[in-house]
Amino acid sequence: MQKVRIPVTVDPVKSANKKVVYDGVVPGKTLTRLQESLVEPCSDPEVSVEFGIDEQGISYFTGKAKVAVKVLCERCNTPLDVDILAQFAYAPVTKRQVADDFPDSYEAVEVNDFGEINLHGLVEDELILAMPLAPKHDAKACQVDRDAMTWGEIDESVAEESDNPFAVLQELKRK
Ligand SMILES: [Zn+2]
Repeated sequence: MQKVRIPVTVDPVKSANKKVVYDGVVPGKTLTRLQESLVEPCSDPEVSVEFGIDEQGISYFTGKAKVAVKVLCERCNTPLDVDILAQFAYAPVTKRQVADDFPDSYEAVEVNDFGEINLHGLVEDELILAMPLAPKHDAKACQVDRDAMTWGEIDESVAEESDNPFAVLQELKRK
């Protein structure tokens, strides 16, 4: 099944009035800021967004975006597969509703001169925020475990050598 591309820009107020629902993808290759932090280009993130008006009369939209990416493991510096899931809830700031009116469950988003928001840009921001700060393999899968043995050997030789500076220190003390 071919997923439809969700619109780049939308009028969140009109969409809220019409209770618009989008279910589709954002082209992965257009998300250049996200791609910069990846080992290889990711596929198209799957995105769903629902617009509506809540009980307080506030226009809002909620949604989620998910994509599988390859990033570098902080520990061993080899590629690591990570599933990113971003969930978000926004309310547009307009002449009719200001950020102070919004409950904490919404983030405020400014509309441009045409009363629109950039949905693709917003999804990209959310995916970047949902990226793990220090991605690491599970201990079992991590390359470092194998390297650790090598390090162990090095450590031993360092330990042997470290006798010498210590001995030198003792020599100095005696003087
Ligand atoms: Zn690793």
